[in-house]
Amino acid sequence: MSDPLIVVAGGGGFIGGHLIGSLRARGRGRLRAVDVKPVAEWYQSFPDVENLVLDLREKEHCYRACADAAEVYNLAADMGGIEFIEHHKAACMLSVLISTHMALAARDAGADRLFYSSSACVYAADKQTEADVTALKEEDAYPAMAEDGYGWEKLFSERMHRHFREDYGLATRVARFHNVYGSHGAWQGGREKAPAAICRKVIEAERDGTGEIEIWGDGEQTRSFMYIDDCLKGIDLIMHSEIEEPINLGSSELVTINELVSMVEDIAGVRLKRRYRLDAPKGVRGRNSDNTKIREYLGWEPSIRLRDGMEKTYAWIREEMTGR
Ligand code: NAD
Repeated sequence: MSDPLIVVAGGGGFIGGHLIGSLRARGRGRLRAVDVKPVAEWYQSFPDVENLVLDLREKEHCYRACADAAEVYNLAADMGGIEFIEHHKAACMLSVLISTHMALAARDAGADRLFYSSSACVYAADKQTEADVTALKEEDAYPAMAEDGYGWEKLFSERMHRHFREDYGLATRVARFHNVYGSHGAWQGGREKAPAAICRKVIEAERDGTGEIEIWGDGEQTRSFMYIDDCLKGIDLIMHSEIEEPINLGSSELVTINELVSMVEDIAGVRLKRRYRLDAPKGVRGRNSDNTKIREYLGWEPSIRLRDGMEKTYAWIREEMTGR
């Protein structure tokens, strides 16, 4: 009998690449990574993994991706940071083709489990208007008023996964990721998120001698950021748990963007003049993850300190930039 096959859709992306890497390091079964980008553009690829280039919006490609799969992790989506999701709402919503066809293909392949990566963007905007936040509990997603485009697709797909479980008996598991950061992800080009963008801007300011950094908004918006290693642990625990409803997977260490900038300045050993761009996309005013439910279910929650994760992320981005 050969090992069970594990499929990671979006395996060429940030979280998918790390997931393949950690499954491989733990010797977990046969692995198949699938992404629409050419393998040369994947953030991480491994020669001993079956790497497939497929467009998972297409149903037949999803059937090819899921053939013989025991476990399927769907991390494929057309997404990016706030600038991308505010300006590409239709593209974000078209990821519904990936979610739908992957769920059908996982069901028809007879997979044991299907993991779906949802997002904190499913939460209603009117619960995120203050920087001094009340952390978001899972039930705050309803009554629904998700982030336009990206968030609505996630909320719809969450619900579809619930009905695949109820109606077809497919064991679906859904995590609502709150901002994930780390190495081997986007740090330039418009799809990067705040932690990577700030690292890049600090390095550029130093390198170019401008001594200045542009910050989107007034910098007093609050967020929490989860280091990739916590994300991977959470995915594994949730996938193999009996948690049937969507659950928060995020850090609850809240910071303002100004504090995050100060942290990166400390890591880099510089102080920069701040220029605030108030008309730039800035997303909700404040957001944090309420981790009551994940603690109750798993006796665990993400706990890697932002400073520790940012040091590693900064070092990686610096290496990428100086290597270029
Ligand atoms: P990413 O953009 O690095 O990875 C997504 C991958 O999906 C990319 O490599 C992309 O090429 C691939 N993809 C896009 N369209 C595809 C298609 N048609 N067929 C096949 N592959 C396709 O993003 P990520 O940060 O690794 O995010 C992974 C998942 O987690 C996504 O579903 C995302 O919405 C979700 N998520 C991420 C965060 C975060 O902070 N990174 C937060 C909330 C939710």
